[in-house]
This record gives sequence, structure tokens and C-alpha cells, in this order.
Amino acid sequence: MEFFSKERMMKVGIVGAGMVGSAAGYALAMLGIVHEIVLVDMNDALAIAQAEDISHAVPFLSATVVRAGQYADLDGAGVVILAAGVSQKPGETRLELLGRNAAVFRQVVGRVLDVAPGCILLIATNPVDVMTQVATRLSGIDASRVIGSGTILDTARFRSLVGRHLGISPQSVHAYVLGEHGDSEVLGWSSARAGSVSLLSFASQVGRPLTDDIRNQIDDGVRNAAYKIISGKGSTYYGIGSGLARIVKAIAQDQRDVLSVSMVTREVAGVRDVALSIPRIIGAQGVLSDLVPDMNADERQALRRSAELLKERADAVPL
Ligand code: ADP
Repeated sequence: MEFFSKERMMKVGIVGAGMVGSAAGYALAMLGIVHEIVLVDMNDALAIAQAEDISHAVPFLSATVVRAGQYADLDGAGVVILAAGVSQKPGETRLELLGRNAAVFRQVVGRVLDVAPGCILLIATNPVDVMTQVATRLSGIDASRVIGSGTILDTARFRSLVGRHLGISPQSVHAYVLGEHGDSEVLGWSSARAGSVSLLSFASQVGRPLTDDIRNQIDDGVRNAAYKIISGKGSTYYGIGSGLARIVKAIAQDQRDVLSVSMVTREVAGVRDVALSIPRIIGAQGVLSDLVPDMNADERQALRRSAELLKERADAVPL
């Protein structure tokens, strides 16, 4: 049966079977677009339990094999999602946390590439832009094969809030969040379109003007969404899990989708060699090319600030 042929479908590894890794595994299993998902965690019992739990959901929607394994079981994986990490201790600085997560990646990245040298690394561990830069440095592979989830989720939130205001589906909104996945991110208002017209034109044609007030509300809704979720339930994982599955789909099916993801980029807004998000074309080989979005002067300036900040943080991480 062609549909289930191993040769035609990809194997995906997930290192870190915590909330984000398991949510990605679940979303991917539900999409039914990969042959096999292998979960690896330093906590074997957790990986086994998550794989078992997800595999019980599979028969309702797909035929993906979901199992726990060791690094050796990542052999042949086309994509390996890195969702392993440690959480912030009370009183710990951002830089100390970064140092500990870099130490996790020092243990993980080499072991993954030893068994799956041709894979694409998909980075989910936060702060995702700096961790993408760390993984790129540690791996020594081409930056186009080390992709961070970046602003994929912020972009989805942006589109959904604009869509809700205009009374249309998020799929009909074309807009991107640029820069850091975090406080300094930049909502690309000036290049945003709905249907084929500018947002302002669309808004006035449907009689739902995008006033400064509405724009500020949307900006706040995008920028502070994670904080609101964290204050209610401790952490966020369904949204990012689905975002990761979406990126895997673009790779596994060589879709050449334009997605806002993070990658070490030669030059963005005048800053060199920094990992951040801009729209990029994603296919079987990873990032095929970058797009430079149209920006007004304020957006360009804000993107530059975001890039400088990320570069500073990445440079400060001990490797
Ligand atoms: P998140 O909400 O980001 O998913 P979690 O703490 O739920 O955070 O998950 C992180 C996972 O990463 C944990 O299951 C932890 O055991 C795993 N992990 C941490 N360090 C390593 C490591 N060096 N190798 C493999 N897994 C690791």
C-alpha cells in the first residue's frame, strides 16, 4: 500500500518528551503524515509513558507508529525535534538558564547527528532563537538544516486576531511576526494583506477599521499571549506542538511553504550572523531561501533592535 510505504514517509525523532515534545508528537501523529515518531528523553519512563499515551490516540485518526527509544533509534530520521531543556530556577538569571540549556544541547546535538547525520534539526527549546544559534554552532552543519520554531506561533496568533477583527479566516490573512520569539518581536503590519489587498483597504471595505486602539489590542494579544497562558496553566504546549508539526509537514512533503521560522541568517536589518525569524521557504532540504519582508522605517528599526539583542545574548552563551 503506497500510502503506508516506509520509503515514502519520514521517520521523525523528538528529543525531550516533556510538555512541548509530547504535544508536538501528538499533533504530528494526528496529522498522519509521517511513518514513525521516536521519543527520546533522559527520563526513560517519561518517554515510554508519553509514547504509549500518544499511540493510544493514533488508531482514531492515523497509522503513525509512536514509540520511545534511545539515541540509536533515531537512525534514519529525516527530522529530529529538540525539545529538551531545563526550566528556570528561582533567582536564576536568563543567562544562567541559557548556559544550562546550552549544556543540554552539548549532550544532545552530537548524539543525534551521530545516528542521523542527514537530518534536519528542528529546535523548540526556549529561548528558541538563541538555542537555534547554539545548535547551529554545536552541530557544524549548514544553517539551513537547523530551524527554530521561532515566530511560527506568534504569526499564527497575529493572523487569527486580525482575522477575527475583519471577520475572515486566519488563512486569508497574510502577515508575519518578525525577529525574536519574545518581547522584542515585530508585528509586520505594513506588509500585512488580506485577500489580495492591504489590511487597511480590506478593513475599510468591510467597514471594520483598524484603529490604533484595535492595533494595540492585537499587538498586546500576540506579544503577551504566552504570559497569559502561563499565568493560568503554568506553560504553553498545544499551540507550539501544532506549529512544530506544521514545520515538519512542510519538510516531509517538500511543500515549499513560506513560514516564519528562526535560523542563523547572514544579515538581517544590518546585523550579521544572528538567529531570528523572517519568512522563509521550507522544503525537504530545510530552509530553501529567505524573504526580506517589506518594512516601514519603524519596523526596520525595531527588527534591528531585536536582532542586536539576540546577537548579544547568543554571543554571551558559553559553549
Ligand atoms: P517543556 O514545557 O519545555 O516541554 P519540560 O520540562 O516539560 O519542558 O520538558 C523538557 C524535557 O527535557 C524533560 O522531559 C527533561 O527530562 C528533558 N531533558 C532535559 N535534559 C535532557 C537531556 N540532557 N537529554 C534528554 N532529555 C532531557
